[in-house]
Amino acid sequence: MTTHKRDYYEVLGVPRNATQEEIKKAFRRLARQYHPDVNKSPDAEAKFKEINEAYEVLSDEQKRAAYDRYGHAGSGGGFSTGGFTDFADINDIFNEFFSGFARASAQARRSPRRGSDIRYELRIDFMEAVLGTQKEIEVTRSETCPRCGGSGAEPGTTPVRCPTCNGTGEVRRVQQSILGSFVSVSTCPTCNGSGEVISVPCRQCGGRKYVRATRTLVVNIPPGVDTGTQIRLNGEGEPGINGGPPGNLYVVIAVNPHPYFRRKGDDIIVEVSINVAQAALGDEIEVPSVDGKEKLAIPPGTQSGTTFRLKHKGVPHLRKTGRGDEIVIVNVQIPQSLTPEQRKLFTELARTLGREVVPQQEKGFFEKLRDVFGM
Ligand SMILES: [Zn+2]
Ligand SMILES: [Zn+2]
Repeated sequence: MTTHKRDYYEVLGVPRNATQEEIKKAFRRLARQYHPDVNKSPDAEAKFKEINEAYEVLSDEQKRAAYDRYGHAGSGGGFSTGGFTDFADINDIFNEFFSGFARASAQARRSPRRGSDIRYELRIDFMEAVLGTQKEIEVTRSETCPRCGGSGAEPGTTPVRCPTCNGTGEVRRVQQSILGSFVSVSTCPTCNGSGEVISVPCRQCGGRKYVRATRTLVVNIPPGVDTGTQIRLNGEGEPGINGGPPGNLYVVIAVNPHPYFRRKGDDIIVEVSINVAQAALGDEIEVPSVDGKEKLAIPPGTQSGTTFRLKHKGVPHLRKTGRGDEIVIVNVQIPQSLTPEQRKLFTELARTLGREVVPQQEKGFFEKLRDVFGM
């Protein structure tokens, strides 16, 4: 469902600063064009759904703000539990062309709806991802207005029964058509289906029921996260509608690269250089690891590109016991300039090594890499 999604503004063909009136106009035009009852081309239904989804978000100031800020994830598109609550809006519009949907719509408007999820990208350092950390983040979201408790009415006053629909949330009209007259039922335009209107709007939220608030939240980041890991903070998303539960906050991790550690899954890869003598004679060297320095025995005759595996020195498995390994790639450094003494020694060495050129039969550098990394 959530494969590549087109930008909602692009879907409706409106600029990002379009007014609600322009958005509504564009939606009506496209919806009329692509409604599956009218348009019989095979992709009309998909197109219609796309148009409808875009309108559902852009026509709602709160959802639109979240979308402008966080993209599809912010509108709930990335994590949404489903779009069934959204039928109310198309029905409103389509009732004007295709009657008979609106009763469900009026109920939908009054039924509790879960708040939208919020996506927050958090950038951390490589070592923080490996070892785990705690971060404070600032999230701006809507919250139920503290003054009116989400009723939208100024404290001391109460919402009154809607005079247009007399509290039913829907209006009925008899319409004439070439096929005869029929009754059309639609959501009440005065109260939007709630059956109540606010006589004195709350002074803090202006009757909108929600206020924007910036909160500082603490995020516990467990060891072993990687770029793309999501940490869910239950109930820290946008508030629910009509008493529905709030959405969740998803903290999406992005990890900065390290100067010399690289990561493949939970294995850590590090490259080190040794000199020609260490490679030929063998040595015990120290290599960096995420735990500090580790001793590594280099056997005599080590070739450039040889890999060594330090068991359980990699990244801790996320929310599981155990760790990956550290893979050390050893490169043999050939000196680029020689002191007179080194030149003398290499010349003597050259005499004993001879000048014969033999085709290679053992595994080469790239094959070894392939063996280690499964490339
Ligand atoms: Zn208020
Ligand atoms: Zn009404």
